[in-house]
Amino acid sequence: MQIYINGEYYEKEDAKVSVFDHGFLYGDGVFEGIRIYSGKIFKLKEHLDRLYKSAKALMLEIPLTPDELKKDVEDAVKRNQKENGYIRLVISRGEGDLGVNPFLCKKASVIIIVGDIQLYPEKYYTEGISVITSSLRRISPDCFDVRIKSLNYLNNALAKIEAAQVGCMEAIMLTREGYVAECTADNIFTVSNGVLYTPCLTDCALEGITRNFVMEIAENAGMTVREIHLTQYDLYNADECFLTGTGAELIPVTKIDGRVIGSGRSGKWTQKLAELFHEAVYM
Ligand code: PMP
Repeated sequence: MQIYINGEYYEKEDAKVSVFDHGFLYGDGVFEGIRIYSGKIFKLKEHLDRLYKSAKALMLEIPLTPDELKKDVEDAVKRNQKENGYIRLVISRGEGDLGVNPFLCKKASVIIIVGDIQLYPEKYYTEGISVITSSLRRISPDCFDVRIKSLNYLNNALAKIEAAQVGCMEAIMLTREGYVAECTADNIFTVSNGVLYTPCLTDCALEGITRNFVMEIAENAGMTVREIHLTQYDLYNADECFLTGTGAELIPVTKIDGRVIGSGRSGKWTQKLAELFHEAVYM
């Protein structure tokens, strides 16, 4: 494994960043998780757009132009000879002093790791997963806009801990107003009467690349797609429910807070969209 740090490549054992890096000290940085399918990097442009938007919101200057970074990501994939895999692209604020002031960090660090990911065992893609609603609310935009894909995942990690404590794999997070936002690392969808629903982005949901792609696939398959305020009641009474994310792809949810969703197995639309998704990405 060859890991890229600021333009140089290192073996895994030697790939190290400073303990004074504000990504480590303060979670000050942004990142993207990206898939490689059949030798092609999936939606690299969209991931880079989101990365640069996140960085802009944080006044974090990425020391490469989007074209330069694109080329470096492509080179890292070639060098690691990955046909199918996962890329973690991290931009941290860089080395500073022990204070939080980001402007004392001289230059952002750019890290590209090309590896593998398997978030859920295969059987859950037909059986579905059981999830809970977290007691923790998703961070609101008056504190921090979650559309910034930052290195600060503690709100998510705490919800994930809560789920694990009761034997669940994921947690649904609500907005402060009580609407469904997203899960700890995935967007959420329901299907009711053949219509696909997902929370609107202003309900503290990341604009997932997979989310957007699944909405496009669904529309092309003739489904009506609606971004709305969703409540727990809507989830419990949906015909189908699934999560989307770069790592998870499209995973059915068959139980929420102890309530069985639909048939209790992956639904017909969920299966169809997953099939269309796989056809498209491995094309
Ligand atoms: N929400 C959160 C909080 C995430 O971290 C992610 C990324 N895993 C997603 C949603 C899904 O986004 P994407 O489809 O771009 O991976």
